[in-house]
Amino acid sequence: IAIAPAQFQQDQILLTPQQLHYLGRVLRLREGDRFIAMDGMGKWWLTQLTGKQAQVLETLSVTTELPITITLMIALPKGSGFDEVVRCCTEIGVTCIAPVISDRTLLHPSPQKLERWRRIAAEAAEQSERAFVPTILEPVAFREALSTVNGHKYICEARGNYPHLLNCLPNKGQMTNDSELIIATGPEGGWTETEIANAIASGFQAVSLGRRVLRAITAPIVALSLVTAACEV
Ligand code: SAM
Repeated sequence: IAIAPAQFQQDQILLTPQQLHYLGRVLRLREGDRFIAMDGMGKWWLTQLTGKQAQVLETLSVTTELPITITLMIALPKGSGFDEVVRCCTEIGVTCIAPVISDRTLLHPSPQKLERWRRIAAEAAEQSERAFVPTILEPVAFREALSTVNGHKYICEARGNYPHLLNCLPNKGQMTNDSELIIATGPEGGWTETEIANAIASGFQAVSLGRRVLRAITAPIVALSLVTAACEV
């Protein structure tokens, strides 16, 4: 379960009513049972349920993070599609998700959405045993976001004869802790020509994800899966 720093009292964790409910009613844990707690910022502990608290028994080392950082810059898809993108990309290993408003973005999200996406990311990180919960940034205009990122930058484009992402990634040996990859994927209607041109002018390389046209919520999942395979296999 995920623990906030304020819940610690030396090596005891003061559990909230919601956490106690989850441990007792959902997981069916009883006094003395052990479970794993994490803070979403790199720390994991083996703990033991003692009354309304958990006793920290051991600090665990977690090796589930990718050796590189990946930012997904994604034009907000319509409906609840973004929830699925956040969940799946967190499981795959994304470091940061930067939702952007593009020329053809249909959705302009309410502030409550950001809270919801962050909660989904936290749950997915817990489920997939990530050490870190990805950061979800506030949505900004695509042209503004272009100048805020540094690293190996790729913009996925379904049309045009662009090289495949797999052929443009750094070699596995070059993907280290300092490597930063930025992958941009477009909305249902695709990027405009101006957006592609602006991205290229900002140092992005236009890439293909294969010959088929993927849905706006499938493309980021495919792109991240390819990157993960390239740096882990
Ligand atoms: N009608 C749009 C077009 O022709 O560009 C299709 C857009 S697609 C549904 C949504 C986004 O997914 C695209 O903007 C692109 O970023 C990404 N995408 C989908 N299929 C892709 C592919 N085969 N290669 C690269 N990017 C792709």
